[in-house]
Amino acid sequence: SFEPLASDFLGFETLLSDREKESITEIRAFLEEHVRPIADDYWERGEFPHQIVEPLMATDVGRFAWAETTPFENSAVFRGLASMELSRVDASVSTFVGVQEGLTMGSIAVCGSEEQRAEWLPRLASGEIIGAFGLTEPLSGSDSAQGLRTTARRDGDSWVLDGAKRWIGNATFSDITIIWAKDVEDSQVKGFIVPTSTPGYSATPIQRKISLRAVQNADIVLDGVVVPESHRLQNANSFRDTAKVLRLTRTGVAWSSVGVSIGAYEAALAYAKERVQFGKPIASHQLIQDLLSKCLGNITASMAMCVRVSQMHDEGTQRDEHSSLAKAYCTARMRETVAWAREAMGGNGIVLDYGAARFFADAEALYSYEGTREMNALIVGRAITGSAAFV
Ligand code: FAD
Repeated sequence: SFEPLASDFLGFETLLSDREKESITEIRAFLEEHVRPIADDYWERGEFPHQIVEPLMATDVGRFAWAETTPFENSAVFRGLASMELSRVDASVSTFVGVQEGLTMGSIAVCGSEEQRAEWLPRLASGEIIGAFGLTEPLSGSDSAQGLRTTARRDGDSWVLDGAKRWIGNATFSDITIIWAKDVEDSQVKGFIVPTSTPGYSATPIQRKISLRAVQNADIVLDGVVVPESHRLQNANSFRDTAKVLRLTRTGVAWSSVGVSIGAYEAALAYAKERVQFGKPIASHQLIQDLLSKCLGNITASMAMCVRVSQMHDEGTQRDEHSSLAKAYCTARMRETVAWAREAMGGNGIVLDYGAARFFADAEALYSYEGTREMNALIVGRAITGSAAFV
């Protein structure tokens, strides 16, 4: 049965329906049994635990959002809390799900035709096929709305894609990758479902990362890759459509950053109750209590923001600047929180076995991906001043 999370200090989980609570309970149990025990080892080796994909997707995790796949009616707050649960245990697995479900399925759901949705979403939801999302390039990160160099050239009933992508999550083992490219005719950004077995497509893993070591990122080269018109996302006509996908996933990253904060905070709290210095548990020293309460303050404020932005999604009032504010704010609070949690654990805070170190390192990737803090701040800045600082 459903157990409220102690770190959800103001009880936001009470907003969930009974069915949603049941689903959270199932997901939490799966993560505790199959992911937590192996997360540090896979992280240390820089390997992805492929064996968990299909059973994980067989929980409600893989099929939250879209009509073609969802097993029951659910709220955006529920989906956010589920992302938080994933990250509270392992941000690499949560990032895998974010790429599979948020970025890949999201692109097809938001920008695909009815036929494309029906063809691809169920297979992605079950984990039968793995997806990736290729927007960022070696020479274009923050400026990818205007700076993409990958090109798409129409050739009869086909398109020819040429260029390079960098940082693409899941792409070392994906079956399809969504490639965003500029149409040489009208200069608009378009999206293509590219099977990774297509000649001219190659992906090489990025090695020696210090953050999210278990999830794999790739450098991709597209050398005359030919895909049929039926693989062009039919409703992606400009970068504005790509941005619709990012609006959804940025709220998801905000929720994930709360999960990372909670993961580190829970490790620190448990440690502080055990660790004795000056003849008593460090949890009874005033300054440690101050660190822990600052962590909980950050977690609670961030959760409140995420809850409201998710509710606005369901109400149809969420705009880009709302999800950007949540992404920028919550990831900045996460970075403080994981540092305070690790600080409360002294030297052991930097050792994987004590539970905070992995979250501390993983926070750095969440802080930068899906738009850096600066870029999301500038999206908010554009909305509140009426003046875009980044074009
Ligand atoms: P740059 O754009 O080079 O930015 C460098 C610095 O300059 C940043 O601090 C930035 O904020 C700042 N900056 C740039 N322009 C401005 C400005 N106008 N004003 C103020 N400051 C500015 N991409 C994908 O497409 N798919 C993925 O699956 C994916 N997964 C990722 C996973 C990981 C682990 C990481 C690290 C990245 C991933 N990315 C992915 C890419 C990610 O979205 C980019 O790293 C991010 O958008 C930043 O781009 P950049 O790294 O090129 O940094």
